[in-house]
Amino acid sequence: MENELNRSEKLQMVGQLAAGFAHEIRNPLTTIRGFIQLFGRSNKISDEHRDHYGVILKEIDRVNEIISELLNMANPNSVMVKEETDVNEVIKGIHFLYQTEVEWRRGQFTLELEKLPLVVIERNKLHQVLMNLVKNSLEAISVDGHLIIKTYSLPEEKKIFIKVIDNGEGMDERTLEKLGTPFFTTKESGTGLGIITCFRLIEELKGTIEIESEKNEGTTFTIQLPVEE
Ligand code: ADP
Ligand code: MG
Repeated sequence: MENELNRSEKLQMVGQLAAGFAHEIRNPLTTIRGFIQLFGRSNKISDEHRDHYGVILKEIDRVNEIISELLNMANPNSVMVKEETDVNEVIKGIHFLYQTEVEWRRGQFTLELEKLPLVVIERNKLHQVLMNLVKNSLEAISVDGHLIIKTYSLPEEKKIFIKVIDNGEGMDERTLEKLGTPFFTTKESGTGLGIITCFRLIEELKGTIEIESEKNEGTTFTIQLPVEE
């Protein structure tokens, strides 16, 4: 019994330390990402260098992803606070982060946002979900790729809807069945943690997530979030 307690105390301590480090690493990383993105937009650089900037951005995102996982594992409740949130603003932030990368891949990233009621949620969780979905979509598209995020609300049902739509490679039956299994990935350097994290976070936000996908046609993720009075 005493050993158990020590063990959980130790785990808690490691968790707190990890969360502390994670924050310290994330802040400078955000600055680095911002500047790299800025450089990447300059028309003075060659296409080759533009590609390199893309790689740097992707690697920074990977580190960020791992840090998010660490923070979630360390102590989800202390990191996440509920805030009155305009979901469209969160989406605009995601669009800003990923538009350049979609364009690098010769695709388009557009928003179709309807006015939404505010929701009181842990904003970071939604941000993380949308980031994971957009990343998957942009990895799934090729030339003439199109990524759309749509929002609308049904006031009578007190729900808001977010659709992340791509016309990328889509998924076959087998992939769809396996979706949400930890570490399931069809990518060479995938982690297979994105979708399962989305499922968990959406559940924590008391929402639902639905997937429609057709091989070689595209994929649509539909998130429903409740609007509470
Ligand atoms: P990872 O992206 O690291 O592979 P994820 O959990 O994010 O892990 O996704 C798991 C798998 O689901 C992907 O490897 C891919 O096969 C499939 N997938 C997810 N989103 C899409 C999408 N928008 N289009 C096509 N396949 C997708
Ligand atoms: Mg992914």
